[in-house]
Amino acid sequence: MSAARYRALAISAHPDDIEFGCAATVAKWVDEGAEVTICLVTDGSTGTQDRTLMGKGLNEVRVEEARRAADVIGAKEIIWLGHQDGYVEYSLDLRKDIARAFRKARPHRYMTIEPAPVIDGWFINHPDHKAVGQASLDVAVTAGTTPGHFPELLDEGLDPWRGLRELWMYSPAPGPVVVDVTATIDRKIEALLCHRSQVGDDAERISTWMKQNAAAEGARAGYAYGESFLVTNRGPGFHPDELDDIDFVFPPLTLDPRSAPASKSAT
Ligand SMILES: [Zn+2]
Repeated sequence: MSAARYRALAISAHPDDIEFGCAATVAKWVDEGAEVTICLVTDGSTGTQDRTLMGKGLNEVRVEEARRAADVIGAKEIIWLGHQDGYVEYSLDLRKDIARAFRKARPHRYMTIEPAPVIDGWFINHPDHKAVGQASLDVAVTAGTTPGHFPELLDEGLDPWRGLRELWMYSPAPGPVVVDVTATIDRKIEALLCHRSQVGDDAERISTWMKQNAAAEGARAGYAYGESFLVTNRGPGFHPDELDDIDFVFPPLTLDPRSAPASKSAT
């Protein structure tokens, strides 16, 4: 197998967040030569109404489901941080744990989850998403990139990583950058359906809903299917003078994605 053309790290709070939010795009990255690491912050142990399954039993099921979903997407590795599902609070320990994954994966593309409390005026965000999203954004500008933040990580052999090229954020709300995922939408759905403990008997309805949603997103930019994101490559998390040499040219992003037409896609 040839060497990866670039590296990507996708952060999520729960084992199915990636599949709902960005799996088709991450699969596209795999197809264009990325080595993808997924970082799952929680153990997925409480997201059920089944009282006989919640806890350790559910964790075991979800580890297996996540592994199969990652295989469908083509991710190389899953890093489990083991925080308790539903109980994640923003803390320096959380920031350090994500920084550890960031320094280990050394991503050129970094995919994180939207931390806003209410998204798009209607979506009440999960508390785990808020904490994980915020901590993962903070890692890009502090503990992931700066040696004086958590110097004990240096003792673990984990140097700061300053070669980040793009930060992506996935969200239930439409984002300004629409990615054409026509070639990978079926893998997104296949990966989502690996999470049987979450989608259960609703598989058909969820598949239909996912495709309709992706069609609507794609239509904004003239694609059959799309996923959309907020993407940035500017600010204190980026260090253009310290970029490593990789065999991949990232298409230019629009200067101000908030005001860019959706058709000005990053890909
Ligand atoms: Zn979630």
